[in-house]
Amino acid sequence: MTDHILVCPFNKKLLDKIKHNAIIIRTRDFKDLHHIHREVNKSNALHAIKIQTETPLATISFQESWLHLPLVIYSPEFGDYKDFSRQLDLIRKLNIRIFLSSQHEFNFTGLRILSSLNISCGLFFNEEPPNWDLLNDLMHYDIYGRTRHAPIEPFHWLASHYEPAGYTDYNSVYFNNPLKYFHINEKEQIALTETDLLNNNYIDEGIKTLDTIEKNKKYIDFLNRRYEIMLQMNECAFCPAFRICLAKFQNLTDKKNTCKSFFSDFMDAADYYFSKRNTIRNQLWQL
Ligand code: SF4
Repeated sequence: MTDHILVCPFNKKLLDKIKHNAIIIRTRDFKDLHHIHREVNKSNALHAIKIQTETPLATISFQESWLHLPLVIYSPEFGDYKDFSRQLDLIRKLNIRIFLSSQHEFNFTGLRILSSLNISCGLFFNEEPPNWDLLNDLMHYDIYGRTRHAPIEPFHWLASHYEPAGYTDYNSVYFNNPLKYFHINEKEQIALTETDLLNNNYIDEGIKTLDTIEKNKKYIDFLNRRYEIMLQMNECAFCPAFRICLAKFQNLTDKKNTCKSFFSDFMDAADYYFSKRNTIRNQLWQL
């Protein structure tokens, strides 16, 4: 079986065919989280439960019984602070990361609140481009902020995995990096990303094919062609921040005053974080 982490729905028949793998369960339901935890851990290792909800964060009914479950919640908006604060003590005890949509501007404030309360959190992007100024402010807060705060994604992940001489794909925080994750549905169809799975764009079918997936032609093609956009004569190919953005916003018409400017600042921040990390390491070594 592959070393990739498998992202799949909670389906007993499907899970019975997978053995000794790390698994992420995706669900839209807050019911049965314990059942999922117990069942998946019988023959696999539950990496996380990803819950995609339409409920605002503040109105989710958090439970004491979720204390030791590895949870990732995707919610469209922060909601009312008063509702949120009533559950704050419990949320802070959970093993949780909370993602809010980049569509609502108050979410940028909401993420600062979560981070300052030491709750791991992040932003997820929709089809619509984000507010680049707010995004830049939030990135600065996460990377340069001196007050103690929990990581905000994808900024923290990218800064801490940044490869100054190579490419860094922050889609790992969304379980969407095909070097590390595969997405599977109930019919055992396998895709490189969640979007590919939704668009019926599969690389193979059948759990058994995971044993030899490294030889799968579509997977090999993906590995060989993933940076091909660099060879095309478009703006992304000449963008200095390509190696951390990887053309994720290539459909924007105005790149100069939007994505390019933000990602250039983000790359400076990643460079800063990288050199800070290495300076500290050198100092420790010399002591
Ligand atoms: S920042 Fe914009 S121009 Fe640069 S690689 Fe990303 S999408 Fe392309």
